[in-house]
Amino acid sequence: MKGTIDSPAAKYIDLHTHTVHSDGALTPTQLVQRAKEVGLSAIAISDHENTEGIDEAKKTAKKFGIEIVSAVEVTSYPDPLTEHHMLGYFIDYKSKILQKALRGIRDLREKRAKKVIDNLNSLDYSINFGDVKALAQGTIVQPHIAWVVITDPQNREKLQKEFGFLPNTGDFIRKYLVPGAPAYESRKALKPKEAVELIHKVGGVAVFAHPCWTAATKKGGKLIFDDKKFEQVVKAGIDGVEALAHRENEEDTRNCVDHFTALAKKHKLAITGGSDYHGFGSAGKELGFQNFYLKVPYQVLEELKSRIGKSSKF
Ligand SMILES: [Zn+2]
Ligand SMILES: [Zn+2]
Repeated sequence: MKGTIDSPAAKYIDLHTHTVHSDGALTPTQLVQRAKEVGLSAIAISDHENTEGIDEAKKTAKKFGIEIVSAVEVTSYPDPLTEHHMLGYFIDYKSKILQKALRGIRDLREKRAKKVIDNLNSLDYSINFGDVKALAQGTIVQPHIAWVVITDPQNREKLQKEFGFLPNTGDFIRKYLVPGAPAYESRKALKPKEAVELIHKVGGVAVFAHPCWTAATKKGGKLIFDDKKFEQVVKAGIDGVEALAHRENEEDTRNCVDHFTALAKKHKLAITGGSDYHGFGSAGKELGFQNFYLKVPYQVLEELKSRIGKSSKF
């Protein structure tokens, strides 16, 4: 299977998209309209820890003859410094088990952010939860917290004193928010295996998202693959890997696609693909990888469907 089949009759899809229900810019209706405009046959709605957009997308998609795959992207942490995202496809998104678990993850994220903010306040930094939430719109991550601190003029004098210069978000995170640092709060979140189990429990097929951002790093302009890390995720019980995904440029993307396609074959995993479309700026690519060489053919979805209910790991 290739990510670049080119024939006039070819049908293309996108199995990784976000809406306003997590950190995307478009409503589910707008997203489906965009999918129609760019000529996609199917899209998966895969918001972070949230499935609220699926029903609306399905309703709109019916009018356009576009297929909607029910999905979710679940964040998991094998250790405090590593984050693995698991895509769950064909999930029973109305399941109470799933909704309770997703609500739990969302609450934990907010609670942890509030604790970190309390810690920073007791260290005499000016920051409040409302400002961080407004900046983040969806999921709150450390750079949001760091940005609110360093851009507040009230913190300027203290920052200058503590650092000897005005820090950027990375400087601030390293001094205050990493494990062992004064404002750090430990994460209480799912392990990769628990995320995969949750997806399986509600009938889903579990796929390791964008491995090229988590099982590869860039050193001196060169991509270094961390196959040990990848194999740990395989042990968590995944059914597939998002091998058709992007990195910064075409050359790196081609390397990643080849590398993770080969690993998928080695471990007998399904290959999926998606743009991680957010509808703005730096996160993800254009819907359906418009203006990019990579495309995800419809056969990818057919193969993924053949995996439904076949997970032998649990
Ligand atoms: Zn992700
Ligand atoms: Zn995503």
